[in-house]
Amino acid sequence: MADCLFCRIVAGEVPATIVRSDERTLAFADINPQAPTHVLVIPKAHIPDVAALAADAETLAAVHQTAAAVADEAGLTRPGWRLVFNTGPGAGQTVFHAHGHVLGGRPLSWPPG
Ligand code: 5GP
Ligand code: ZN
Repeated sequence: MADCLFCRIVAGEVPATIVRSDERTLAFADINPQAPTHVLVIPKAHIPDVAALAADAETLAAVHQTAAAVADEAGLTRPGWRLVFNTGPGAGQTVFHAHGHVLGGRPLSWPPG
């Protein structure tokens, strides 16, 4: 989608620090990191949110596999890490192209705000 920021990152029209890329997914550093590791994992196809992502089992699995690989490569397996999908404006979703936030490298409190 031409007016979607994350589609423009997939297309190379907006620069990003790419962490991983495969057939279905792209992982890149968040521009405003909330933790020492803060990587966004997205489907390369334009899928607006988690509900739509759930309808595509292969892409859903690929996004989670990429998130786990990012966390592993960043050394987050111990003590742990968080995968967050803000879904809908009330939950803080600001970019309507599904993305998981891989967060780690500092203590992560619960519940989130
Ligand atoms: P949301 O609020 O939708 O869950 O997350 C959107 C995320 O995208 C935010 O954490 C924000 O910092 C990040 N973001 C917004 N614009 C850009 C950008 O141009 N480049 C990158 N790398 N991240 C962005
Ligand atoms: Zn998009």
